[in-house]
Amino acid sequence: MKKLLLTAALLIATIYSAQKKYVLVVHGGAGTITKSTMTTEKEIAYRAKLSEALIAGYSEIHKGNTSVQAVAAAIVIMEDSPLFNAGKGAVFTHDGTNEMDASIMYGKDKSAGAIAGVHTVKNPIKAAIAVMQQSEHVMLSGVGAENFATEKGLEIVDRAYFKTEERWESLQKLLQNENSKKTSQNTVAEAYEVDQKFGTVGAVALDKHGFITAGTSTGGMTNKKWNRIGDAPIIGAGTYANSQVGISGTGWGEYFIRATAARTLAAKMEYQNKSIKIAAQETIDEIEKLGGDGGLIALDKDGNIAMPFNTAGMYRGAITEDGEIFIEIYK
Ligand code: ASP
Repeated sequence: MKKLLLTAALLIATIYSAQKKYVLVVHGGAGTITKSTMTTEKEIAYRAKLSEALIAGYSEIHKGNTSVQAVAAAIVIMEDSPLFNAGKGAVFTHDGTNEMDASIMYGKDKSAGAIAGVHTVKNPIKAAIAVMQQSEHVMLSGVGAENFATEKGLEIVDRAYFKTEERWESLQKLLQNENSKKTSQNTVAEAYEVDQKFGTVGAVALDKHGFITAGTSTGGMTNKKWNRIGDAPIIGAGTYANSQVGISGTGWGEYFIRATAARTLAAKMEYQNKSIKIAAQETIDEIEKLGGDGGLIALDKDGNIAMPFNTAGMYRGAITEDGEIFIEIYK
């Protein structure tokens, strides 16, 4: 019996010591992503892009660069890919434009930057970083944000750059749906729900110096009107980082704002000593209780991760300090 117990204890110790330390985690959006609606080619393409983003961020960390640089590297890869709802491939507004939001927060000193409602900045995450590092502000919007990005020498592109046929089709489907019912009687849900794949991108990194950064970038929600701004550029809602944990969310932004999702997760760890897994799951549960859906990624200072979501799927991946990659799409 004693021998058996000793063996069991040794086994547990081995498993525990082999627990992986993650240094970067990314998401490419949550939503109605199911195996039956996915082609093999598409799945391969998503997995390849998520890996590329993880490797790009990881190489920054490996070189000893900051977690800000790692998050930027990972997000730029996803913004430049038409697969995700950020940068190229951003969803369309009701008026047929692409209107993007992004934010970043550096846990070391809680510095943060965000931009909302930009149409011509090629990589919105770079503009958010510029706001954080080169201005006294936290959030800029619209034309002012674009002027700021131009002044800081960021790449500005023609509005047409962001267009993809697939996103255009999604808007047309929603518009048809809206027209086929009486618009005035449409619920908010019906205005968005036909094609509910959120597709925002996000990354959280932990650098060799022990500092965490979280970033998020999005085109928002298809068919959005009136310069609607979601959670992605709102510090404490879609993005948050402190010395303990970093968070990036994806989903129905209005609910993430109302739940102050990212900050709530961090507060559960800070004030209630909850583990990252419990804090993350409780945050998603609270969003669900309000009637919202989506998911989030979180990474703490010890390299633990959590990736809960209440949708059918979420594009997600992580990389350990040894460079081991893990990618998942479905539940
Ligand atoms: N959270 C984003 C928003 O509401 C959408 C997304 O996650 O794709 O703008």
